[in-house]
Amino acid sequence: MTVVVLLGSPGAGKGTQAPVLAEHLEVPVLASGDLLRSAVANATPLGREADRFMSRGQLVPDETIVRVFLDRLERDDAEGGAILDGFPRTRVQAEALDVALSGAGRRVDRTIFIDVPTEDLVKRMANRRICTANGHVYNLASNPPREPGLCDIDGSPIVQRPDDHEATVRARMREQIPPLLEVVDHYRKAGVLQTVDGREPIAEVSSRVLTMIDAPFAEMVAPWEPAT
Ligand code: AMP
Repeated sequence: MTVVVLLGSPGAGKGTQAPVLAEHLEVPVLASGDLLRSAVANATPLGREADRFMSRGQLVPDETIVRVFLDRLERDDAEGGAILDGFPRTRVQAEALDVALSGAGRRVDRTIFIDVPTEDLVKRMANRRICTANGHVYNLASNPPREPGLCDIDGSPIVQRPDDHEATVRARMREQIPPLLEVVDHYRKAGVLQTVDGREPIAEVSSRVLTMIDAPFAEMVAPWEPAT
């Protein structure tokens, strides 16, 4: 049973590294952004609510995302653990996750913070594309698909996310980095935080992340209490 939280600013590489970790640990990726985008695509009540915030680069209210994400975490496929990509994004969400996990005798085992400076992120996101079928992530400059415009894995068209246009990207950074830093601090205090330099090439970041996850984590000998 391993619960790993991947932290990083929008565009830091969480969506790229999450499947690498998931394959290694044989657990699913639960990506809050994917859950929300699928609700938007299906025009569900959640999708209609979330779209108002997502299209402006704002965070969806804690109450909504906590309910939806914790429900998802309770499904059978996450019984053996999960990689959490994009959740928690605020201290309130991190505390709600701690409470939900501790109620089930579980905890966040590791948190990996993929650290990238904001200006690098803005440039990176201008080139980001995702596939329409499964959200597989590409970068036109550093990680293009083999066939232009098509996903290597499932062949679906790749597109720019509406919230990846520069003005929205800057709004997302403004809105999302301060609460993210609180979440980083939350896990640092809990003794489960590790940081990787996300400016390295993708393969190098993957290899560092896998090395981290396989190594015993010295700080974790410290007593750890969920914030209830
Ligand atoms: P992502 O794909 O993780 O970048 O998420 C896309 C958008 O979904 C974000 O810019 C937010 O508007 C929303 N979102 C995703 N995860 C969360 C979360 N944990 N809390 C609030 N909003 C979220």
